[in-house]
Amino acid sequence: MDFKQFIADVPDFPEEGITFRDISPLMADGKAYKEATRQIVEYAKDKGVEMIVGPEARGFIVGCPVANELEIGFAPCRKKGKLPRETIEVSYGLEYGNDILQLHKDAIKPGQKVLITDDLLATGGTIAATIELVEKLGGEVVGAAFFIELADLKGRDQIKGYDIFTLMTY
Ligand code: AMP
Repeated sequence: MDFKQFIADVPDFPEEGITFRDISPLMADGKAYKEATRQIVEYAKDKGVEMIVGPEARGFIVGCPVANELEIGFAPCRKKGKLPRETIEVSYGLEYGNDILQLHKDAIKPGQKVLITDDLLATGGTIAATIELVEKLGGEVVGAAFFIELADLKGRDQIKGYDIFTLMTY
């Protein structure tokens, strides 16, 4: 399936010079969303994934249907202050300043094989922070899956040594 026909390219959003790759038309098409999910499910099966972790908010959109199909769990990774129970956290660099991502302390069991999901791999900062959280809890990150990779931003270099699966490259 040519998934790119379901991506809306929005110039100069959220700021000038950025082309925002909007996945909502893909989600709006039941067959396309199901096929995208199916391909990540196959990848996760090959990797023996036992648990999925995704950063808010679009990491949930990619990861939750995959977890559901595989009948495994999904743990949300969220910005500081959103998770209600005991958390661990990492600080990571954004274009301007820093942000903090958190995961519940009991989200992962030591040794669990974890797949990380997000809609888009850009600089890789978000995914590197998510990997760090999972590993702090003793999880084994066996792969990361995205709908989209922006190759020019070299996100792969941020997470060298980890297996990456993407449906589309720009
Ligand atoms: P990064 O940490 O730089 O890899 O950024 C990844 C996060 O920012 C992802 O969760 C994306 O949802 C979002 N993002 C970054 N660049 C874009 C873009 N051009 N279009 C849509 N989302 C983006």
